[in-house]
Amino acid sequence: MAHSFDTDTEAAGLIAFVDASPSPFHAVAGAGRMLEGAGFAEVREVDALPSEPGRYYLVRGGSLVAWSTQGSDGGQHSQGGGTSGQAAAARPFRVVGAHTDSPNLRVKPNPDVSRAGWQLLGVEVYGGPLLNSWLDRDLGLSGRVAVREPDGGVGTRLLTATEPVLRVAQLAIHLDREQNTGLVLNPQQHLAPLWAQDDVPGDFRGYLAEQVEVDAADVLAWDVMTHDVQPSRRIGREGDLIAAPRLDNLATSYAGVRALVDAVEQQPAHVPVLVLFDHEEVGSLSERGAMSTLLPSVLERVVLARGGTREDYFRALAGSVIASGDMAHATHPNYADRHEPQHQVALNGGPVLKVNARLRYATDGLGAAAFALACEQADVPMQRFVSRTDLPCGSTVGPMTSALTGATTVDVGAPMLSMHSARELCGALDPAMYAAALAAFLAPAQH
Ligand code: ZN
Repeated sequence: MAHSFDTDTEAAGLIAFVDASPSPFHAVAGAGRMLEGAGFAEVREVDALPSEPGRYYLVRGGSLVAWSTQGSDGGQHSQGGGTSGQAAAARPFRVVGAHTDSPNLRVKPNPDVSRAGWQLLGVEVYGGPLLNSWLDRDLGLSGRVAVREPDGGVGTRLLTATEPVLRVAQLAIHLDREQNTGLVLNPQQHLAPLWAQDDVPGDFRGYLAEQVEVDAADVLAWDVMTHDVQPSRRIGREGDLIAAPRLDNLATSYAGVRALVDAVEQQPAHVPVLVLFDHEEVGSLSERGAMSTLLPSVLERVVLARGGTREDYFRALAGSVIASGDMAHATHPNYADRHEPQHQVALNGGPVLKVNARLRYATDGLGAAAFALACEQADVPMQRFVSRTDLPCGSTVGPMTSALTGATTVDVGAPMLSMHSARELCGALDPAMYAAALAAFLAPAQH
């Protein structure tokens, strides 16, 4: 293949990234480390963005934006008569978007419950998990803890508890013979994980305080969630599959970072951008979700920091293209009738272009063409997905980012099975092809 992404390297890298990213906060921390290794510097939103061309990223909670203003400043974009500085500032963007969050069980504010000699933790359901897949797994805890700092201010600590401290125990088959034909899980009643045997409620705040090494009185709040501690691994007779949690959508987050790091070396005429959003699985409406100011405000500030005007920002957007990357449904062999017969999608078959006439995906003909060219440039096959016409279609951050920026947008993905399971499945050959396609999209040969 023409591209420089090695199949085994990308598969192993994805596995390591997923296992190190049990929460969105960990995912952006891991992405930040990878970016720093490639010469990106973190900037803070409260500071002025640097005016010098360079590689930068910023973090807002569980979201991240990275961009590079290095590269050829493409005089071909100066046909507005502006100065060359303004022409550079008005360079269009190529954006890859993805999300860092995945469906899971999250710990309630007053979580300590005891029942029948057990200490249980109260949890809420985040997003749309396949609840059955969370039963009888060894669960750890992760996320972010807000603490009182010695100076009285509020700080945060990453929580990474990878010991299997919790389990949502399923009822024995003998006590409900109907579970194999119609499992009913009431989220309030049946999902509380067990974490110790005692007649008195546990002390979750005290547990957190120990984990992040502060006094319990200084634990002010938390965003804590559960994860399956079983390591990801390659499986299948040929070893060409990857079984892992959170592939939706850490597989795109990882491929996106790898693509950006590759693209910046090619001095693209566009400004290559990666945006990783939190909160996609719950509707994206937050200070850092895809409905937020995050992407448009950072893109505008990138233009302004280089001496451009608001007019230059809108000129840049008019020439920009966004690839919204999110995982795609491969055809399930046991349920082939749930898939559109003319649009069968295979694991290890290459990146997927996603189309939906009701715009659950943002793809239009122009965006689709841009991604088709990227796959061609990367020398990887491209698959096309649409839902059956009589089935509803999931959505992504694509329609939101296209509406908020006005930029041409295409929804793309990599094929997978078991989407929203606690342990999902993708191809081991796809991560390299996906990264190569996204890298070509960020640094197109034609512009
Ligand atoms: Zn997703």
